[in-house]
Amino acid sequence: MAIPAAGLTERTGSAPGRVNLIGEHTDYNGGFALPLAIPARATARVRSRDDGVIVAASTAPGAEPARFAVDSAPGEVTGWAAYVAGVFWALRDAGHDVPGADVTIDSTVPTGAGLSSSHALEVAVAVTLNDLHGLGLDRTTLALLVQRAENQYVGAPTGTMDQMASLYGQEGHVILFDATSMTAQPVPCDLPAAGLSLVVVDTRVHHEHTGGGYGARRATCEEAAALLGVETLREVQGDAVDDVLGKLDDDVMVRRVRHVLTENARVLDTVALLRAGRADEIGPLLTASHASMRDDYDITVAEVDLAVEVALDAGALGARMTGGGFGGSVIALAPADAADRVGDAVRSAFDRHGHASPSVFTVRPAAGAGIEENNQ
Ligand code: ADP
Ligand code: MG
Repeated sequence: MAIPAAGLTERTGSAPGRVNLIGEHTDYNGGFALPLAIPARATARVRSRDDGVIVAASTAPGAEPARFAVDSAPGEVTGWAAYVAGVFWALRDAGHDVPGADVTIDSTVPTGAGLSSSHALEVAVAVTLNDLHGLGLDRTTLALLVQRAENQYVGAPTGTMDQMASLYGQEGHVILFDATSMTAQPVPCDLPAAGLSLVVVDTRVHHEHTGGGYGARRATCEEAAALLGVETLREVQGDAVDDVLGKLDDDVMVRRVRHVLTENARVLDTVALLRAGRADEIGPLLTASHASMRDDYDITVAEVDLAVEVALDAGALGARMTGGGFGGSVIALAPADAADRVGDAVRSAFDRHGHASPSVFTVRPAAGAGIEENNQ
Protein backbone atom coordinates (compact mmCIF):
# COMPACT_ATOMS: atom_id res chain seq x y z
CA MET A 1 0.00 0.00 0.00
CA ALA A 2 1.35 3.42 -0.93
CA ILE A 3 1.98 5.60 2.08
CA PRO A 4 0.93 9.14 1.27
CA ALA A 5 3.17 12.02 2.23
CA ALA A 6 2.39 13.08 5.78
CA GLY A 7 0.08 16.05 6.09
CA LEU A 8 -0.90 16.09 2.45
CA THR A 9 -3.90 13.84 2.38
CA GLU A 10 -6.40 15.26 4.84
CA ARG A 11 -7.56 18.69 5.90
CA THR A 12 -10.44 20.20 7.79
CA GLY A 13 -11.60 23.69 7.04
CA SER A 14 -14.67 25.69 7.89
CA ALA A 15 -16.66 28.63 6.63
CA PRO A 16 -19.42 30.70 8.19
CA GLY A 17 -22.92 31.51 7.08
CA ARG A 18 -23.70 35.16 6.72
CA VAL A 19 -26.30 37.73 7.51
CA ASN A 20 -26.58 40.67 5.20
CA LEU A 21 -26.97 43.83 7.25
CA ILE A 22 -28.12 45.77 4.20
CA GLY A 23 -27.75 45.72 0.39
CA GLU A 24 -30.05 43.07 -1.10
CA HIS A 25 -30.07 41.96 -4.75
CA THR A 26 -27.36 44.52 -5.43
CA ASP A 27 -24.44 42.13 -5.96
CA TYR A 28 -25.47 40.82 -9.37
CA ASN A 29 -26.05 44.44 -10.34
CA GLY A 30 -22.43 45.35 -9.64
CA GLY A 31 -23.45 47.19 -6.47
CA PHE A 32 -22.75 47.33 -2.75
CA ALA A 33 -23.69 45.08 0.15
CA LEU A 34 -22.79 45.03 3.82
CA PRO A 35 -22.79 41.45 5.09
CA LEU A 36 -21.27 39.92 8.21
CA ALA A 37 -20.02 36.41 8.84
CA ILE A 38 -22.02 34.78 11.64
CA PRO A 39 -20.90 32.30 14.31
CA ALA A 40 -22.75 29.37 12.65
CA ARG A 41 -20.33 27.50 10.35
CA ALA A 42 -19.99 24.60 7.96
CA THR A 43 -17.01 22.32 8.50
CA ALA A 44 -15.59 20.22 5.66
CA ARG A 45 -13.23 17.31 6.26
CA VAL A 46 -11.54 16.28 3.03
CA ARG A 47 -9.42 13.16 2.68
CA SER A 48 -7.87 12.54 -0.74
CA ARG A 49 -8.58 9.31 -2.65
CA ASP A 50 -6.58 7.88 -5.50
CA ASP A 51 -9.45 6.24 -7.44
CA GLY A 52 -11.00 9.32 -9.04
CA VAL A 53 -14.11 9.06 -6.86
CA ILE A 54 -15.77 11.52 -4.50
CA VAL A 55 -17.75 10.13 -1.60
CA ALA A 56 -19.71 12.95 0.00
CA ALA A 57 -21.47 12.66 3.34
CA SER A 58 -23.20 15.16 5.59
CA THR A 59 -24.46 15.08 9.13
CA ALA A 60 -27.55 17.02 8.00
CA PRO A 61 -30.79 15.06 8.41
CA GLY A 62 -31.97 13.65 5.08
CA ALA A 63 -28.68 14.27 3.25
CA GLU A 64 -27.96 10.82 1.83
CA PRO A 65 -24.31 9.98 1.16
CA ALA A 66 -23.38 10.26 -2.52
CA ARG A 67 -20.65 8.64 -4.61
CA PHE A 68 -19.62 10.03 -7.99
CA ALA A 69 -16.65 10.52 -10.31
CA VAL A 70 -14.44 13.53 -9.57
CA ASP A 71 -14.86 14.62 -13.20
CA SER A 72 -18.69 14.55 -13.11
CA ALA A 73 -20.06 17.24 -15.41
CA PRO A 74 -22.84 19.68 -14.44
CA GLY A 75 -26.13 17.80 -14.32
CA GLU A 76 -24.53 14.48 -13.37
CA VAL A 77 -24.73 15.04 -9.63
CA THR A 78 -27.96 16.42 -8.20
CA GLY A 79 -29.37 17.11 -4.75
CA TRP A 80 -27.24 18.36 -1.87
CA ALA A 81 -24.06 16.66 -3.18
CA ALA A 82 -24.13 18.94 -6.24
CA TYR A 83 -22.76 21.69 -3.96
CA VAL A 84 -19.72 19.51 -3.25
CA ALA A 85 -19.39 18.27 -6.83
CA GLY A 86 -19.67 21.85 -8.11
CA VAL A 87 -16.63 23.04 -6.16
CA PHE A 88 -14.47 20.19 -7.46
CA TRP A 89 -15.77 20.83 -10.98
CA ALA A 90 -15.07 24.59 -10.81
CA LEU A 91 -11.52 24.00 -9.56
CA ARG A 92 -10.79 21.34 -12.18
CA ASP A 93 -12.39 23.43 -14.91
CA ALA A 94 -10.01 26.24 -13.93
CA GLY A 95 -7.08 23.88 -14.50
CA HIS A 96 -6.47 22.62 -10.94
CA ASP A 97 -6.21 18.87 -11.17
CA VAL A 98 -7.69 18.05 -7.74
CA PRO A 99 -8.11 14.33 -7.07
CA GLY A 100 -11.16 12.56 -5.67
CA ALA A 101 -11.82 12.59 -1.94
CA ASP A 102 -13.97 11.55 0.95
CA VAL A 103 -15.76 14.76 1.93
CA THR A 104 -17.66 15.03 5.19
CA ILE A 105 -19.78 18.08 5.90
CA ASP A 106 -20.94 19.09 9.36
CA SER A 107 -22.76 22.42 9.51
CA THR A 108 -24.59 24.49 12.08
CA VAL A 109 -25.92 26.92 9.47
CA PRO A 110 -29.67 26.32 9.07
CA THR A 111 -30.56 25.48 5.47
CA GLY A 112 -32.89 27.56 3.35
CA ALA A 113 -33.13 30.21 6.06
CA GLY A 114 -31.48 32.97 4.05
CA LEU A 115 -28.21 32.57 5.97
CA SER A 116 -26.42 31.06 2.99
CA SER A 117 -25.85 27.53 4.20
CA SER A 118 -25.08 26.56 0.60
CA HIS A 119 -22.19 29.00 0.34
CA ALA A 120 -20.89 28.08 3.78
CA LEU A 121 -20.68 24.48 2.56
CA GLU A 122 -19.09 25.36 -0.79
CA VAL A 123 -16.58 27.81 0.71
CA ALA A 124 -15.62 25.29 3.40
CA VAL A 125 -14.85 22.71 0.68
CA ALA A 126 -13.04 25.30 -1.45
CA VAL A 127 -10.72 26.63 1.29
CA THR A 128 -9.97 23.09 2.42
CA LEU A 129 -9.04 21.90 -1.10
CA ASN A 130 -7.01 25.08 -1.63
CA ASP A 131 -4.97 24.34 1.47
CA LEU A 132 -4.79 20.56 1.03
CA HIS A 133 -3.41 20.81 -2.50
CA GLY A 134 -1.38 23.99 -1.99
CA LEU A 135 -3.24 25.73 -4.81
CA GLY A 136 -2.38 29.18 -3.43
CA LEU A 137 -5.65 30.75 -4.62
CA ASP A 138 -6.56 34.04 -2.97
CA ARG A 139 -9.94 34.56 -1.34
CA THR A 140 -11.47 36.54 -4.17
CA THR A 141 -10.49 33.85 -6.69
CA LEU A 142 -12.10 31.26 -4.42
CA ALA A 143 -15.28 33.37 -4.24
CA LEU A 144 -15.49 33.47 -8.04
CA LEU A 145 -14.90 29.72 -8.30
CA VAL A 146 -17.64 29.09 -5.76
CA GLN A 147 -19.95 31.34 -7.77
CA ARG A 148 -19.27 29.21 -10.87
CA ALA A 149 -20.03 26.09 -8.84
CA GLU A 150 -23.36 27.47 -7.70
CA ASN A 151 -24.35 29.06 -11.03
CA GLN A 152 -23.16 26.43 -13.48
CA TYR A 153 -23.23 23.25 -11.48
CA VAL A 154 -26.06 23.63 -8.99
CA GLY A 155 -28.02 25.90 -11.32
CA ALA A 156 -28.76 28.69 -8.83
CA PRO A 157 -28.16 32.11 -10.42
CA THR A 158 -26.71 33.65 -7.25
CA GLY A 159 -24.16 36.48 -7.04
CA THR A 160 -20.88 36.84 -5.19
CA MET A 161 -21.79 38.60 -1.94
CA ASP A 162 -22.40 35.49 0.14
CA GLN A 163 -19.08 33.85 -0.64
CA MET A 164 -17.19 37.10 -0.15
CA ALA A 165 -18.76 37.52 3.30
CA SER A 166 -17.95 33.94 4.23
CA LEU A 167 -14.35 34.30 3.01
CA TYR A 168 -13.55 37.81 4.24
CA GLY A 169 -15.63 37.98 7.45
CA GLN A 170 -13.91 39.39 10.53
CA GLU A 171 -14.92 39.44 14.13
CA GLY A 172 -16.41 42.80 15.14
CA HIS A 173 -16.73 43.99 11.54
CA VAL A 174 -19.23 44.06 8.72
CA ILE A 175 -17.81 43.73 5.23
CA LEU A 176 -18.36 46.41 2.61
CA PHE A 177 -18.57 44.38 -0.54
CA ASP A 178 -18.24 46.12 -3.89
CA ALA A 179 -19.35 43.74 -6.62
CA THR A 180 -17.78 45.77 -9.42
CA SER A 181 -14.25 45.89 -8.03
CA MET A 182 -14.78 42.56 -6.19
CA THR A 183 -13.31 44.02 -3.04
CA ALA A 184 -14.28 43.41 0.58
CA GLN A 185 -13.44 46.09 3.11
CA PRO A 186 -13.96 45.57 6.85
CA VAL A 187 -16.04 48.26 8.55
CA PRO A 188 -16.02 48.31 12.38
CA CYS A 189 -19.34 47.20 13.82
CA ASP A 190 -18.90 46.33 17.47
CA LEU A 191 -22.54 45.80 18.38
CA PRO A 192 -22.06 44.91 22.08
CA ALA A 193 -19.93 48.03 22.61
CA ALA A 194 -22.74 50.10 21.10
CA GLY A 195 -25.25 48.41 23.43
CA LEU A 196 -26.97 46.74 20.47
CA SER A 197 -28.11 43.24 19.56
CA LEU A 198 -28.76 41.85 16.11
CA VAL A 199 -31.71 39.49 16.38
CA VAL A 200 -32.31 36.95 13.61
CA VAL A 201 -35.77 35.51 13.09
CA ASP A 202 -35.77 32.45 10.83
CA THR A 203 -39.39 32.48 9.70
CA ARG A 204 -39.06 28.85 8.57
CA VAL A 205 -40.71 29.81 5.29
CA HIS A 206 -38.06 28.25 3.12
CA HIS A 207 -37.18 29.51 -0.28
CA GLU A 208 -35.53 27.72 -3.18
CA HIS A 209 -33.02 29.82 -5.05
CA THR A 210 -33.21 27.41 -7.93
CA GLY A 211 -36.88 28.50 -8.27
CA GLY A 212 -37.88 31.21 -10.71
CA GLY A 213 -38.30 34.37 -8.58
CA TYR A 214 -34.64 35.19 -8.12
CA GLY A 215 -33.74 34.54 -11.75
CA ALA A 216 -36.63 36.67 -12.95
CA ARG A 217 -35.48 39.65 -10.84
CA ARG A 218 -31.98 39.26 -12.15
CA ALA A 219 -33.18 39.08 -15.77
CA THR A 220 -35.28 42.25 -15.38
CA CYS A 221 -32.27 44.15 -14.01
CA GLU A 222 -30.08 42.97 -16.86
CA GLU A 223 -32.73 43.99 -19.37
CA ALA A 224 -32.99 47.42 -17.73
CA ALA A 225 -29.22 47.88 -17.81
CA ALA A 226 -29.20 47.02 -21.52
CA LEU A 227 -32.03 49.49 -22.20
CA LEU A 228 -30.17 52.19 -20.29
CA GLY A 229 -26.90 51.45 -22.07
CA VAL A 230 -24.94 50.69 -18.88
CA GLU A 231 -22.90 47.61 -18.02
CA THR A 232 -24.62 47.26 -14.65
CA LEU A 233 -27.14 49.32 -12.66
CA ARG A 234 -24.28 50.21 -10.32
CA GLU A 235 -23.23 52.87 -12.84
CA VAL A 236 -26.35 54.85 -11.98
CA GLN A 237 -25.76 56.83 -8.79
CA GLY A 238 -26.59 60.15 -7.16
CA ASP A 239 -28.63 62.65 -9.19
CA ALA A 240 -28.83 60.30 -12.16
CA VAL A 241 -31.27 58.04 -10.31
CA ASP A 242 -34.44 60.06 -11.00
CA ASP A 243 -33.52 60.69 -14.65
CA VAL A 244 -32.97 57.02 -15.20
CA LEU A 245 -36.27 55.98 -13.65
CA GLY A 246 -38.03 58.50 -15.94
CA LYS A 247 -36.52 56.78 -18.97
CA LEU A 248 -38.11 53.41 -18.24
CA ASP A 249 -41.77 52.94 -19.00
CA ASP A 250 -42.55 49.46 -17.75
CA ASP A 251 -43.93 49.89 -14.22
CA VAL A 252 -42.51 46.61 -12.92
CA MET A 253 -39.08 47.42 -14.32
CA VAL A 254 -39.18 50.91 -12.77
CA ARG A 255 -39.88 49.42 -9.36
CA ARG A 256 -37.18 46.76 -9.67
CA VAL A 257 -34.58 49.31 -10.75
CA ARG A 258 -35.64 51.80 -8.06
CA HIS A 259 -35.01 49.15 -5.42
CA VAL A 260 -31.51 48.44 -6.67
CA LEU A 261 -30.51 52.09 -7.00
CA THR A 262 -31.90 53.22 -3.65
CA GLU A 263 -30.49 50.14 -1.93
CA ASN A 264 -26.96 50.94 -3.11
CA ALA A 265 -27.34 54.42 -1.60
CA ARG A 266 -28.62 52.97 1.69
CA VAL A 267 -25.57 50.71 1.96
CA LEU A 268 -23.20 53.63 1.59
CA ASP A 269 -25.22 55.70 4.09
CA THR A 270 -25.03 52.81 6.58
CA VAL A 271 -21.26 52.56 6.14
CA ALA A 272 -20.88 56.30 6.77
CA LEU A 273 -22.84 56.02 10.03
CA LEU A 274 -20.86 52.98 11.21
CA ARG A 275 -17.55 54.65 10.44
CA ALA A 276 -18.74 57.66 12.44
CA GLY A 277 -19.46 55.39 15.42
CA ARG A 278 -23.20 55.93 15.04
CA ALA A 279 -24.40 52.31 14.80
CA ASP A 280 -27.48 53.18 16.85
CA GLU A 281 -28.69 55.42 13.99
CA ILE A 282 -28.76 52.87 11.16
CA GLY A 283 -32.19 51.45 12.08
CA PRO A 284 -34.28 53.62 9.69
CA LEU A 285 -32.04 52.59 6.77
CA LEU A 286 -32.68 48.91 7.53
CA THR A 287 -36.43 49.50 7.71
CA ALA A 288 -36.42 51.50 4.46
CA SER A 289 -34.55 48.62 2.81
CA HIS A 290 -37.33 46.28 3.88
CA ALA A 291 -40.06 48.56 2.50
CA SER A 292 -38.18 48.68 -0.80
CA MET A 293 -37.93 44.88 -0.99
CA ARG A 294 -41.61 44.57 -0.12
CA ASP A 295 -43.06 47.30 -2.35
CA ASP A 296 -40.61 47.61 -5.25
CA TYR A 297 -38.78 44.31 -5.53
CA ASP A 298 -41.75 42.13 -4.47
CA ILE A 299 -39.61 39.52 -2.75
CA THR A 300 -41.09 39.41 0.74
CA VAL A 301 -43.82 37.11 2.03
CA ALA A 302 -46.49 37.62 4.74
CA GLU A 303 -44.41 36.01 7.49
CA VAL A 304 -41.36 38.21 6.95
CA ASP A 305 -43.48 41.36 6.70
CA LEU A 306 -45.18 40.42 9.97
CA ALA A 307 -41.86 39.74 11.72
CA VAL A 308 -40.52 43.15 10.67
CA GLU A 309 -43.65 44.99 11.75
CA VAL A 310 -43.86 43.27 15.13
CA ALA A 311 -40.12 43.69 15.82
CA LEU A 312 -40.40 47.43 15.23
CA ASP A 313 -43.48 47.67 17.48
CA ALA A 314 -41.57 45.80 20.19
CA GLY A 315 -38.73 48.31 20.22
CA ALA A 316 -36.35 47.35 17.41
CA LEU A 317 -34.50 50.34 15.93
CA GLY A 318 -34.79 48.87 12.45
CA ALA A 319 -35.70 45.57 10.82
CA ARG A 320 -35.55 43.95 7.41
CA MET A 321 -35.61 40.68 5.59
CA THR A 322 -32.09 39.44 4.92
CA GLY A 323 -31.08 37.17 2.05
CA GLY A 324 -32.51 36.48 -1.36
CA GLY A 325 -36.11 36.61 -0.26
CA PHE A 326 -39.35 34.66 -0.74
CA GLY A 327 -39.09 33.65 2.92
CA GLY A 328 -35.98 33.09 4.97
CA SER A 329 -34.86 35.29 7.82
CA VAL A 330 -35.50 38.75 9.20
CA ILE A 331 -32.94 40.76 11.16
CA ALA A 332 -33.87 43.28 13.81
CA LEU A 333 -31.38 45.69 15.32
CA ALA A 334 -32.41 46.34 18.92
CA PRO A 335 -31.03 47.87 22.07
CA ALA A 336 -29.47 44.91 23.89
CA ASP A 337 -32.05 45.09 26.67
CA ALA A 338 -34.94 44.94 24.16
CA ALA A 339 -33.69 41.88 22.23
CA ASP A 340 -35.64 39.31 24.27
CA ARG A 341 -38.79 41.40 24.04
CA VAL A 342 -38.46 41.56 20.24
CA GLY A 343 -38.05 37.78 19.98
CA ASP A 344 -40.98 37.09 22.31
CA ALA A 345 -43.24 39.51 20.43
CA VAL A 346 -42.47 37.90 17.07
CA ARG A 347 -43.00 34.39 18.47
CA SER A 348 -46.39 35.26 19.92
CA ALA A 349 -47.50 37.14 16.78
CA PHE A 350 -46.63 34.08 14.66
CA ASP A 351 -48.63 31.92 17.06
CA ARG A 352 -51.66 34.26 16.84
CA HIS A 353 -51.50 34.26 13.03
CA GLY A 354 -51.23 30.46 12.86
CA HIS A 355 -47.69 30.53 11.41
CA ALA A 356 -45.14 27.86 12.32
CA SER A 357 -43.01 28.87 15.29
CA PRO A 358 -39.96 30.87 14.13
CA SER A 359 -36.43 30.22 15.30
CA VAL A 360 -35.02 33.32 17.02
CA PHE A 361 -31.36 33.90 17.89
CA THR A 362 -28.81 36.69 18.01
CA VAL A 363 -25.67 36.96 15.91
CA ARG A 364 -22.52 39.04 16.03
CA PRO A 365 -19.89 39.56 13.36
CA ALA A 366 -17.64 36.47 13.45
CA ALA A 367 -14.49 35.25 11.72
CA GLY A 368 -14.41 34.20 8.06
CA ALA A 369 -13.36 30.89 6.49
CA GLY A 370 -10.22 29.14 7.61
CA ILE A 371 -8.35 25.91 8.13
CA GLU A 372 -8.68 24.19 11.49
CA GLU A 373 -5.56 24.46 13.60
CA ASN A 374 -5.46 20.82 14.58
CA ASN A 375 -4.72 19.65 11.00
CA GLN A 376 -1.71 17.40 10.90
P1 ADP B 1 -29.44 28.86 1.87
O1 ADP B 1 -28.13 28.88 1.20
O2 ADP B 1 -30.03 30.22 2.02
O3 ADP B 1 -29.44 28.14 3.18
P2 ADP B 1 -30.09 27.32 -0.44
O4 ADP B 1 -31.36 26.78 -0.99
O5 ADP B 1 -29.25 28.16 -1.31
O6 ADP B 1 -30.44 28.04 0.92
O7 ADP B 1 -29.15 26.13 0.02
C1 ADP B 1 -29.66 25.10 0.84
C2 ADP B 1 -29.21 23.76 0.26
O8 ADP B 1 -27.78 23.63 0.47
C3 ADP B 1 -29.80 22.58 0.97
O9 ADP B 1 -31.07 22.24 0.41
C4 ADP B 1 -28.76 21.50 0.70
O10 ADP B 1 -28.91 20.99 -0.61
C5 ADP B 1 -27.46 22.29 0.75
N1 ADP B 1 -26.89 22.25 2.10
C6 ADP B 1 -26.67 23.28 2.93
N2 ADP B 1 -26.10 22.87 4.10
C7 ADP B 1 -25.98 21.54 3.99
C8 ADP B 1 -25.49 20.51 4.87
N3 ADP B 1 -25.01 20.78 6.10
N4 ADP B 1 -25.50 19.25 4.42
C9 ADP B 1 -25.98 18.94 3.19
N5 ADP B 1 -26.46 19.85 2.33
C10 ADP B 1 -26.47 21.14 2.72
MG1 MG C 1 -27.80 29.54 -0.79
